[in-house]
Amino acid sequence: MRQLLLVEDSNMFGRLAKSKIEKAFDIPVFWTKTLAETEKLLTMAKGNFSMALLDFNLPDAPNGEVIDRVIAEGITTFVFTADLTDEVRNLVWSKKVADYILKEDPNSLDYIIAAMRQIDENQESLVLVVGDSTEYRSMVSELLYIRKFRVLTAPDGKSALEILDQYREIKLVITDFTMPGMDGCTLCQKIREKYKQDHLAIIGFPTKNEGNVGARFIKSGANDFILQQSFLVEEFYCRVNHCMETLNLIGKIREGAIRDFLTGLHNRRYFFDAGNDLLRRCQKGQERLSCIMLDIDFFKKVNDTYGHDVGDLVIRSIARMLREDAGNRDIVARIGGEEFCILTPGGTRRDVIARCENLRRRIAKTPAALLQDKMPLLVTTSIGVCTEMDDSLELMIKIADERLYKAKAGGRNRVESQPPSQH
Ligand code: GH3
Ligand code: MG
Ligand code: MG
Repeated sequence: MRQLLLVEDSNMFGRLAKSKIEKAFDIPVFWTKTLAETEKLLTMAKGNFSMALLDFNLPDAPNGEVIDRVIAEGITTFVFTADLTDEVRNLVWSKKVADYILKEDPNSLDYIIAAMRQIDENQESLVLVVGDSTEYRSMVSELLYIRKFRVLTAPDGKSALEILDQYREIKLVITDFTMPGMDGCTLCQKIREKYKQDHLAIIGFPTKNEGNVGARFIKSGANDFILQQSFLVEEFYCRVNHCMETLNLIGKIREGAIRDFLTGLHNRRYFFDAGNDLLRRCQKGQERLSCIMLDIDFFKKVNDTYGHDVGDLVIRSIARMLREDAGNRDIVARIGGEEFCILTPGGTRRDVIARCENLRRRIAKTPAALLQDKMPLLVTTSIGVCTEMDDSLELMIKIADERLYKAKAGGRNRVESQPPSQH
C-alpha cells in the first residue's frame, strides 16, 4: 500500500482516523478537509495514493461530490457517512466505492482498517469469471476490480477448465448457470473432481433461482450462490469476502500443520512428504539430490548453563541462518530438538560440500544469542552430508546421519562427507 488520502472536515474524527490508520499500516496519511483542498492535493500528488477514506458530507461538497473526483484518479475509495438512507446507500454504491461505513458506529475505523487490509491481500488473488454474456463478464469483473482482485474470464465451461489448469493460483470461480456446452452446475462438479474446497472457492451466479438452481449449485460443490436478478453490490462483496476469508483461514491452518512452531521452518511430517516428492522430481529430471544433516554441538550444555529460553534463542538463530542459506527449491526442516535436515537439488558434490563448510564456519562465528551481560554466545554445529542419490529418501537420511555422528566422534564443528571409495 502506498499513501492514503483522508478527507474529513471534523477535527476530532480526522485526527483519530489518521492516527489509527498510520499505526495500522505504517504509511503516511494525507488529510484534507474540503473538496477544494482535495482537488489541489490530487493535482499536485498525482498517482501517489492507492486508497482513500472520504467523508460523504463536506462543507463545499454536501452530497458525495468528492467521491467522483477521487475515484476518477483510480484510487480505491472508502466512504463514511453520518446517515444511511437507502438513497445515500444507492448513491454511494453507484459511484463504485470499495465500501462504506457508518460514522457513529464505534467500530467503524477498525472495520475500515480490516477492509483495507483485505483489499491489500486481494491484489494477490486471482478470480475466474465464467459466463457466455460479455455484459455479465464485464459487470462482474468490474465489481472485482474495484476490490483490487486480479481477474480472468472465460465464455464457457470448457475454456474455464483449461484456464484453471493453466493458472493454478486461481482462488475463486464465479460462474453463470446457463452457458453453451456445459451449464454452471456441471462445471462445478468438474472443477471439484480436481480442486477441493480447501484450494478453490466457487460462487454460482445464476440469473434467477429457476428450477432451484441455487441449491443445485451448492450440491454440485459451490460454496455459495447469488442471483443476478436481485443481488445487491454489498451482498456480492460480503459473499466474495466470506469465501476468501475461509480460504485464507484454511491456508493458515494448513501452514500451521506443516511448520515448526519455534522456528517457522518446516516440520518433520512435511519433510518426509515433500522430500519424497522432491526426490521423485530430481530422479525424473536426472538431477542430483543431496541430504544434509546438521546438529548443534553440546547443546545440552547450553540449556544446562544458560537455561531453556537461551537454548530456544540458539535454535531460532541457527534456523534463521539455514533459511537465509537455502535456495528456493531446498527443503529445510527442523526434524528433532536441535537437529535440522536440508534436502537440496542440483549442484555438484563439491558445491554441496563447500556450501556446508561455509555454513558451518558462518554459524561458528555468528553469535547465536546475547547473554545477560551482553556477551555473545557462540555455538558450533556438526554436519553429515549424503550426496549419493538413492531410491529411498530414508536411506539417504540414514547415510547423512551416520556421517553426522562420525563428525561428532571426530571432534565436532566439522563436516563429514566421506567420499565413496573408488574401486
Ligand atoms: P552433541 O554435541 O552430541 O549433539 O550433544 P548435545 O548435547 O547437543 O545433544 P543431546 O542430544 O545430548 O542433547 C540435545 C538437547 O536438546 C536435549 C534436549 O533437552 C534439548 N532440546 C530439545 N528440544 C529443545 C527445544 O526445543 N528447546 C531447547 N531449549 N532445548 C531443546
Ligand atoms: Mg546436539
Ligand atoms: Mg541431537
